[in-house]
Amino acid sequence: MLKAGVYLQLAPVLFGKGTSEQAGAKARELGISKAMLISDKGVLEAGITKRIASIVENAGIETVVWTEAETDCPDDTVSTAAKLAKDEHTDGVIGIGGGSVLDTAKAVAAVAANDDTVLEEIPLYLTGQKQYGKHPLPILEIPTTAGTGSESTFVSVVTSSKLDCKIGLPVAPDYGIVDPELTKTVPADITAYTGMDALAHAVEALVEKKATPHSDLLAYEAIRLICKYLPRAVENGADEEAREHLAFASNLAGISFNESGTNIGHSAAHAVGHVQHIPHGICCSNMTPPVIRFASKTYPDKMKKIALLFGMNISSEKISEIGNMTAEAVRKFAADLGIKTFRELGVSREELVSLKNIIYKDALCHAYGGAVTEQDIEELLISAYMDGE
Ligand code: NAD
Repeated sequence: MLKAGVYLQLAPVLFGKGTSEQAGAKARELGISKAMLISDKGVLEAGITKRIASIVENAGIETVVWTEAETDCPDDTVSTAAKLAKDEHTDGVIGIGGGSVLDTAKAVAAVAANDDTVLEEIPLYLTGQKQYGKHPLPILEIPTTAGTGSESTFVSVVTSSKLDCKIGLPVAPDYGIVDPELTKTVPADITAYTGMDALAHAVEALVEKKATPHSDLLAYEAIRLICKYLPRAVENGADEEAREHLAFASNLAGISFNESGTNIGHSAAHAVGHVQHIPHGICCSNMTPPVIRFASKTYPDKMKKIALLFGMNISSEKISEIGNMTAEAVRKFAADLGIKTFRELGVSREELVSLKNIIYKDALCHAYGGAVTEQDIEELLISAYMDGE
């Protein structure tokens, strides 16, 4: 019998080459007359921010362009941008960038409609104990990396200065435009680690409590596409076919984990990334093989299917063999893409293990579709460290 579950379709997504040309028309459909455009320096230098700004302006929409978004969406940057959005009386937000920018845009939309207390009370919003007094401003998200799927997820991952950690603020986008053309300027290393972030979303979505046959389907297809096209895009950023399929895979993985969820891998990745200042995708990449080894105990068939997508037919029924062989395939895939291990990045075993309490206390960790003990987390972290040997 198929498992019952909610099939969550969050916001429409316009997908395809050249679709960013419709940014102005879509913003108008959202009722935006003066848009706060959120972007960052890298996307600005790639020439994307100004191009989208003129498309939006040509549709008769006034713009306020702010390109100071920072990696991992620090709450003080959200506060600064939201103040500008308020002062300028903007009535909608357009995010143009990678996950850090898209998350900043979501959080700005919530804070600009309300006030900075939103940022101080993120846990209350996350647990549903508090609702926004005023609905966030309309949000149009235009990703320029193929990784986070944030254009299709209900959350903005904010770095909270008060809590000294990364935490999810629930804010849903209203519309997404996924134009693979915009990802062609992403450098090879960022292509690799954003692609591995999308892979981690898909793998963790398969082993989440809320996983459904629908979220599984999207996750498997995302894994298949990433496996096939990520090495090509890293090798040659101008490979349009690879970029297109990766942009699609990233969005599929986003829809999948928005319906299902991420869990132990992302919980650990957030903690390591925050403390060690390592990019999110690298942390996710390093945590995926340990997650697969761990999840093979509960989900051996799903792990076998991942192995199959990586071109390996595992005939063994032994859980340890299924876990180790699948994890090794993913570890080697990441290594071939040039992604450094925690050990290569200078993180010690002790530093990793010291994060086990933070991870164990994180609710995200327990969204895994099975029991998780503190000992399991320690083993997961040691496993991530040993992968660097
Ligand atoms: P990023 O947004 O931090 O961008 C990485 C770098 O790539 C930046 O320097 C940026 O300027 C540059 N860049 C982006 N697009 C470019 C382009 N087209 N050409 C040239 N350079 C470009 O990286 P990311 O991996 O996309 O996002 C990571 C963030 O997303 C993390 O904070 C993570 O927590 C968050 N995230 C959010 C969700 C969600 O559902 N909300 C999901 C996963 C990750």
